[in-house]
Amino acid sequence: MAAKQKVLVLGGGFAALETAFLLRMRHHDDVDIRLVSDRDQFLFRPNSIYVPFGADPESLLVDLNKPLHRRNIEFERGSVTEVDPDNRLVSLDDGERFSYDKLVIATGADTNAAEIPGLEEHGATIWTTDSMLGVRRHFEEIRDRSKAGERQSVLFLVPPNNKCSGPLYEIVFMLETWLRKNDARDHVDITWSTFEHGFIQAFGPRLDDLVTAEFADRGIEGHLEEVATEVTADEVRYADGSSRRFDHLIAFPPYVAANRYPGLESDDRGFVATDLETRLATGRDDVYVPGDAGDFPIKQAFLAFLQADAVANHIDAELRGAEFDKPFDSVSMCIMEMFDKATFAQVPVELTGDPDRPVRVRADADGDYKVGTSPVWRIGKKMLGFSVPMRFHAGEPFHAGKAWQAMDVGIKAMSSMLAD
Ligand SMILES: Cc1cc2nc3c(=O)[nH]c(=O)nc-3n(C[C@H](O)[C@H](O)[C@H](O)COP(=O)(O)OP(=O)(O)OC[C@H]3O[C@@H](n4cnc5c(N)ncnc54)[C@H](O)[C@@H]3O)c2cc1C
Repeated sequence: MAAKQKVLVLGGGFAALETAFLLRMRHHDDVDIRLVSDRDQFLFRPNSIYVPFGADPESLLVDLNKPLHRRNIEFERGSVTEVDPDNRLVSLDDGERFSYDKLVIATGADTNAAEIPGLEEHGATIWTTDSMLGVRRHFEEIRDRSKAGERQSVLFLVPPNNKCSGPLYEIVFMLETWLRKNDARDHVDITWSTFEHGFIQAFGPRLDDLVTAEFADRGIEGHLEEVATEVTADEVRYADGSSRRFDHLIAFPPYVAANRYPGLESDDRGFVATDLETRLATGRDDVYVPGDAGDFPIKQAFLAFLQADAVANHIDAELRGAEFDKPFDSVSMCIMEMFDKATFAQVPVELTGDPDRPVRVRADADGDYKVGTSPVWRIGKKMLGFSVPMRFHAGEPFHAGKAWQAMDVGIKAMSSMLAD
């Protein structure tokens, strides 16, 4: 009997779990799957936007041990230190080494606030749940001082090389609504400053228009094409010599890869070069990089799922000797929380090759480029926040099976009524 193929998955986030669970679903027990992660819990990061407003960070975690055990996936808790693709070996920090037939690198991204001198020291940043608790302290202070009649300025900052600005837009809208609901809006000046050429640039002109109108309605001053270079105790300085003052600075720092893999072709931030449709690492036929760890320029959980699905399907097709017919199709989708309502966007994007504007809405997107704003979309956001952790808790992929089919039908029905 031929030895089982060994699939080694690195990471315990969206891309890693979706790949591992979908592959197990497709291939039953015909393949050995091992997953290595430096944490034994999955973090549902999208809902960490609620932490500054009181949510418990513990509520965002799913323990990995049981679902992986249930699916007969070997779980190794450890930190990957090296990938040797020529010898098909992965090393961990405790000296352990694993060989593989197929490797899936899904170790994600990290942020690097230190790239903007002074940012770590003088600003609150969003990324980890701890950093979100730091933002909470600022918001509580802003609310309390405003209620006491003290005027304060809050500056939101997206510096260059941030690759996922959407969550900070959610937080500025949520703060504005939250202050209003707490009778604390009047004494707070809110300013938005981003390096982007359009608001939420990656999602195209319709999101830019929508954010421009929302900023105007909510009394938020928005500024584009501001390249932050330095932060002092009370101002952000920009490349053109201008500056903006703040009492509170809330920033989403530049992105880098969580791990660098010198044996694989990567860009200057450590994101591994990939083939668009299969997510195979450039020049390799046995190393895949779904999710934030790869070089797709928008870093998003929804895209990480689609990429992971393509990886699991490609490995499955190879193992069965079948044709690969489910390539990664870059149609982004998000629901942006605003507390008084939410905004849905479905955006088919294509790569441009221009580092300044790396994606654009596909010219032939037509009716597939959908945007809608309504309080009802908050239900969609809640459904996603409930169903992804629930699926992973059960050891199931998110984008497969009856639960996803039902959810997909629900989102399509909502978007036909509440988006155009
Ligand atoms: C505040 C916020 C809100 C967001 N909201 C949304 C949203 O609404 N919708 C959306 O689509 N996207 C959203 N995103 C983006 C989304 O969270 C990421 O795109 C997504 O987490 C990427 O998934 P991933 O699996 O590639 O990486 P991750 O989820 O980051 O997972 C990486 C995994 O690798 C592990 N790991 C890292 N290094 C090592 C190592 N050396 N050894 C072993 N394991 C390692 C980590 O512990 C982790 O388990 C948001 C991001 C933020 C910060």
